[in-house]
Amino acid sequence: MGRKRSSVDNLAKLQDALAEATQQRDMTLEAINRSQPTTRGHHMADVADDSVSQQMLLENLGKKIFAIQKSIARINMGTYGICIDCRHKIAKSRLEVHPTAKRCITCQEIHENGS
Ligand SMILES: [Zn+2]
Repeated sequence: MGRKRSSVDNLAKLQDALAEATQQRDMTLEAINRSQPTTRGHHMADVADDSVSQQMLLENLGKKIFAIQKSIARINMGTYGICIDCRHKIAKSRLEVHPTAKRCITCQEIHENGS
């Protein structure tokens, strides 16, 4: 039963993270929309740089939201906390730091090294 309990704890954590990321995305979208209409004239370069970094932020937030949604879906399916590569349990300490982790630390390292 201990395993189920920890999944529930992580669900609450993920839902909080989802709410936070969604709010951040909405704020970023709002900021982009505000700065978009005819910001002609001075500091064009600054405006362009700003909008590029905001687009990147938006993209990162989108990825984060997607990862959180997938983790919540995996909790519902009962596959949360299981490495998608080796099918072993992901260490609880790892899930506490990275609640959206879908690989154990070993497989993640292999994945990131691309070998
Ligand atoms: Zn693994």
